[in-house]
Amino acid sequence: MNNNFAIEVNNLTVSYSKKPALKGIDLKIPHGKIVGIIGPNGAGKSTLIKGMLGLIPLDSGEIKVFGKSLKENFPRISYIPQRESFDWDFPVVVQDVVMMGRYPHLKLFQKISDEDKAKVKAALQKVDMLEYAERQIRLLSGGQQQRIFIARALAQESDILFLDEPFVGIDAATETTIFAIMRKLKSEGKTILVVHHDLGRVTDYFDLVILINQRLIAYGKTSEKFNRDNLIKTYGGRLTILDKTEQLRSQTIN
Ligand code: ADP
Ligand code: MG
Repeated sequence: MNNNFAIEVNNLTVSYSKKPALKGIDLKIPHGKIVGIIGPNGAGKSTLIKGMLGLIPLDSGEIKVFGKSLKENFPRISYIPQRESFDWDFPVVVQDVVMMGRYPHLKLFQKISDEDKAKVKAALQKVDMLEYAERQIRLLSGGQQQRIFIARALAQESDILFLDEPFVGIDAATETTIFAIMRKLKSEGKTILVVHHDLGRVTDYFDLVILINQRLIAYGKTSEKFNRDNLIKTYGGRLTILDKTEQLRSQTIN
């Protein structure tokens, strides 16, 4: 293991109540790439992210972040979970959510500084949501909430971002904004992992793809690995249904 990779995963195996969800996943994710995690419903995509982040118990597996333990580099990672897992029934305003991104930078008992406030403001500006700073987050639309979570990640100035299905249930303008931000972060050398289920956009969006269905089916450059053979291995019979969709037909899959 060394520092040449942003993340290294060795033999990651996860089960829920003895039912296997992921088996023996090995990955080496280089710096500065946008990586898609692709697979059918229940394939273990969210589990892969949670396992890489140490948020769930592992049956086996070792995770390294920039060559070090996950714990040591945890503040350098942002995680935006799948939307249904948020519960915003309590009152919290937008700028406080974004300020959470600054917490890993604060020392014990240290107060929020003007610099922290400026970074929160800049992050809100980047996602075009500054005018919503004082709003209750639960009153925002799905797309607006997603922008706020991106802003929180920007305020954190993390080097690795995990996003779980960030484009589900959001408007096209927000999708474009979020993807433009991902590209910008990539140009700054950041590493971005995105769980994604819309096969139509895969070749546009991702430098690398991880195709999974409990096991790792394929991993590598999108241009090499995102092909019909690997998709059939990943989706099985379900691909015939997907095949009929407009998105897949317009795609140049060989
Ligand atoms: P994906 O994100 O690819 O849709 P998940 O990682 O959420 O898949 O789930 C993988 C499998 O593990 C599914 O069969 C799912 O039902 C199961 N699973 C996920 N989370 C839990 C949990 N907390 N308890 C029990 N089973 C779970
Ligand atoms: Mg999921």
